[in-house]
Formats: sequence, C-alpha cells, structure tokens
Amino acid sequence: MAIQIYNTLTRKKEEFVPLEEGKVKMYVCGPTVYNYIHIGNARPAIVFDTVRRYLEYRGYEVKYVSNFTDVDDKLIRAANQLGEDVPTIADRFINAYYEDVTALGCQKADVHPRVMENMDIIIEFIAQLVEKGFAYESEGDVYFRTRSFDSYGKLSHQSIDDLQVGARIEVGDKKEDDLDFALWKAAKEGEIYWESPWGLGRPGWHIECSAMAKKYLGETIDIHAGGQDLTFPHHENEIAQSEALSGKLFSRYWMHNGYINIDNEKMSKSLGNFVLVHDIITRHNPQVLRFFMLSVHYRNPINYSEELLESTRSAFERITTSYQNLKHRKEASTDLTSDNQDWLDKISAIQDQFIEAMDDDFNTALAISVLFDLSKLANYYLLEKNTAVEVIDAFTNQFDGLFRVLGLTLESEDMLDKEIDALIEKRNQARKDRNFALSDQIRDQLKEMNIILEDTPQGTRWKRG
Ligand SMILES: [Zn+2]
Repeated sequence: MAIQIYNTLTRKKEEFVPLEEGKVKMYVCGPTVYNYIHIGNARPAIVFDTVRRYLEYRGYEVKYVSNFTDVDDKLIRAANQLGEDVPTIADRFINAYYEDVTALGCQKADVHPRVMENMDIIIEFIAQLVEKGFAYESEGDVYFRTRSFDSYGKLSHQSIDDLQVGARIEVGDKKEDDLDFALWKAAKEGEIYWESPWGLGRPGWHIECSAMAKKYLGETIDIHAGGQDLTFPHHENEIAQSEALSGKLFSRYWMHNGYINIDNEKMSKSLGNFVLVHDIITRHNPQVLRFFMLSVHYRNPINYSEELLESTRSAFERITTSYQNLKHRKEASTDLTSDNQDWLDKISAIQDQFIEAMDDDFNTALAISVLFDLSKLANYYLLEKNTAVEVIDAFTNQFDGLFRVLGLTLESEDMLDKEIDALIEKRNQARKDRNFALSDQIRDQLKEMNIILEDTPQGTRWKRG
C-alpha cells in the first residue's frame, strides 16, 4: 500500500508518487515574522512537520524548505511603530519562532530561506517574467499579467471570469487589469528598499515562494503545503508565476490544513481572541498542544479552548501513565522466559494499524486512537500481573517509535519522575526521622499531583491515579 494524499489541485486522494523515487521535495509557506506566532501559525508547523516525519518513517529522503517572510507591509508598520528597523524586527521574531516551534516538537527545515537574503534571485525571476511578457512594469511597480496565464484559478477551482465578478483583487490605477497582482512595489518614502531594474523597491509577497522554491528545490516539487487560507490568492499566484516561467508543473501535490477557531469563533484581530503560542506554552505542556492539534485530521477545522486543551491533557496522561507503569513493572521483573508470542503479535499488529491510518492522507486522529488501543492493551497486560521483560520492552519500544513519528515524546515525563522520586526519598527520610507531619505533607502534595503511593515491605511504590 502506498501513501494517499488529498491533493487540493485535483480535489481527490491520490497515490503519492514523488518525481524521483525515494525522494521528496517539500515546500511549506512559513510565517511573516512581525510578531510572535499565534495558534493558527502553529497548526501548519505541526501538521507538516508530522507529514515530513511520517514520510521519513516510510523510508523517503525528504528535503524540507520553509520560508520566512521578512519584508512586507506588516513588518514595515511594526518597525515604524516600534522605532526599529525591519531586519531587527525580523531577526527577533525569527528567533521567537524557532523557540516556539521547537517547544512544539517541530524539527528545523533543511532550509529556512529569507526574502532579504534572496533578493537577487527574486529580482531575476521577475525580470524573466517581464522578458517573457507575463509581467510588466508600471511606474516603478511590476505586475503579473494574470490573464496571460491560461490555467489561472485551477488550484482554487474558480474560473478567471468568476474572479472578475467577485472583484476580490483591489483596484489599482497602475494595473492593466484588476486581476493583475504585484511582483515588485516601488518604495514609498521612508520604506526599506532594494535596487532593481525598475528602480528602488521591494518584492510583492507571492513571488518569494516561487523564487525560493525554484532555488532550493527545482522547477517541479513534490509537495507544496500551507494553511487553507493560502490557497487563494497566494498559492494560485505562485502557480501562475512558476508555471508561466518554467512551462512545467510547479507542484505535484498541494496540501492545505484547515482553520482554527477559538472558543467556536473565528480568530481575528477585531475580536481580540488571538492566542499566542508563546503564552500557551507557559501554562501548558507544549506536547499536549501538539497532541491536541494532531487529534483532529489536518484538513478539518479545529476548535481551541482551554477546556478542550485540559481534557486533551488528561487523555495524553492516560497514555503516559501506561508507559510509566510498564517501566516500573520492568524494573521489578526477573521474568525473562515466558512464552510471549501472542502478546508480541498483538503489539506488532498495532504498528500495522498505525501505518494504515497514516497512509490514508496522514490521518493522525485515527493514528492517535491506535495509540490509545496500545495503551489499553498495555493496561490489560499489567492488570494480568504479567512481567515478561521481552513484552514490556516491545510495548515501550512501540510507544517510543510511534510517538516519535508524531513528533511527540514520553521523555518529558521522566523529568517529572525524577522529581517524584526525590519527593518520595524525602518522605522516606522524614518517616525514618519520625517526622510524620512532613511525611504526611509530602504524601498530600503528591496526591495533589495525582500520584498514589503504596508502601510495601520492599519500599515505596507509586503510580499515577
Ligand atoms: Zn508561499
């Protein structure tokens, strides 16, 4: 069975066949770095990091490129407001981005290209479009001649005439046609600028992705991805620019993740319900946020609320508790000999189910339900008082492996384990010292953390309640 991907271009699930066998060229539109990222930016980062991890797990060599938009109107505005320059703002929020997405378990891309560092290839790309007649200069601006690209609208499934009626594109006097969009903008007073054949200015937003995808991945890439809101006009325009220039298919598969609502409302500046990742992860385990995002299929909308995140936390802890209990059982075990084949088969079957779920358009929601099945199986194993080291290892290895594919780790709990062990140690000492007040206080403290102690002749054991 091959991996199936829902392709926005064809509106169908298709078998994934990369251009070059065993290799995947993947481009994901990155953030505009003028502020901390909000939860809506975190979703594509997590979703496509998981896609990348899964492709690698299935044996593909993935080259992953994700840009930073470090020159645009929002950055210029932020720079003016703060009295700083655009590169300073960009640097600050690129660092903040890395910090946030690393906490969320996302790996760095192979390349994170920035517009400022690629101005030469962007200008070159525009110049070639002008030379071929797909673009024109007008009073220091350069526009793409949208009607010159025959299949414009193919990604968002709109005919070019529908677009004109919809008048979605702002009217500018300098354009030949309302549908044309800017590739280069002449610098206004006080704005950051670069020299170009058309005078001082800066690139429009869409052109950077076409130019940087070509530079780092080539004319045809395998997967181009981003949030659903980028389908039109951003990705439509990328296709027009890239395919007009190369005469080749730009991307074989287009993947888009769904929207995020906050407390069932659209996230918007005017509603003031922007949720920044930077804030959430001071209050919640970032792993839980990742788990939450992956518990819904990436194409479906997702609703975020503190209550939902809280219930995700307890669900997540059900799995980590099974895992920890397995580790504790192993520590107490001397059983190296039992006949375990039946259990080993069951554990291995879980992996097949996981792959089946993920092969079907990266259905992480289903994959997570498979992880709960593994957790139930482990609980059942432990309940039966089984102690075979071979089986326990198979369980924990399976947990580790499948968690890793989703970019999740059970390791963060180990820190907590150490803290719990330290508290138990302190309590044992208190009991030896006959300081029962302190010993009871520690027991209560652990109870609050949902840790249940069991004093046995061999010492104190604990489990998560
Ligand atoms: Zn883009």
